[in-house]
Amino acid sequence: MYRALIIDFSKDKKCFFCKSGKTLKFCVTIQDISSGEVYVSSKSCYEKNIDKFKNKNDNIPNLTKGVIRENSESQYLSKRFAIERDPSSQISNLEYLILRQEKLSDIDKMKYDGIQDIYENYKKGLSLTEIENNRLDRFIETTKKIYPEFSPMNLQRLYACVFWLDYAIINTDYKKTQEFLQSILHDYKKYRMISKKQADCVSATFERINNKITKIKDKIPVVKFIIRANSID
Ligand SMILES: [Zn+2]
Repeated sequence: MYRALIIDFSKDKKCFFCKSGKTLKFCVTIQDISSGEVYVSSKSCYEKNIDKFKNKNDNIPNLTKGVIRENSESQYLSKRFAIERDPSSQISNLEYLILRQEKLSDIDKMKYDGIQDIYENYKKGLSLTEIENNRLDRFIETTKKIYPEFSPMNLQRLYACVFWLDYAIINTDYKKTQEFLQSILHDYKKYRMISKKQADCVSATFERINNKITKIKDKIPVVKFIIRANSID
């Protein structure tokens, strides 16, 4: 039996189940319960093997909700993922905690000492207690009011954009395009949002890069950006 741990983007991981040897862009991290070994699976192979998962009825943290539409595998995806990718779908407290304290922790003001104890407890037991959940509810509610860019959906957007900007930089040979995307990535990490004009340029650049990528699965998905409010440029 296995336990599914998290749904995430991946740069260099390959599927444990089908051994196709293909590099995954989206993956499910899984753990063999008896040996404790950790592997990754594609989402479609995870779905096909769902009965081998002890926690198949649990909602596992999904850090890929900042993507609007994937280019791959959509025909295989069950309702489970279709619902999760709905833009209005809830961001769980656990997803928020992992993004803030771990995945995005290199971004200025992201990691917050006041919830680090909850994160450390989660790393030990892979779940949250009711008290911890209530603390996170209050923390997220307060943070959203003071720093809207740190709202749960915006953290998902930030994570998705940073990942796919990186991916685009690696997947283009044009130095000028790389420099442009690098400057956006730098701004995005620094200010945690970009202007409408920058977002439009990035979308157009992603489309140009996608036109050169032949395999549908390797194309950049449609990503939500955090747009600066009232941006005039
Ligand atoms: Zn597979």
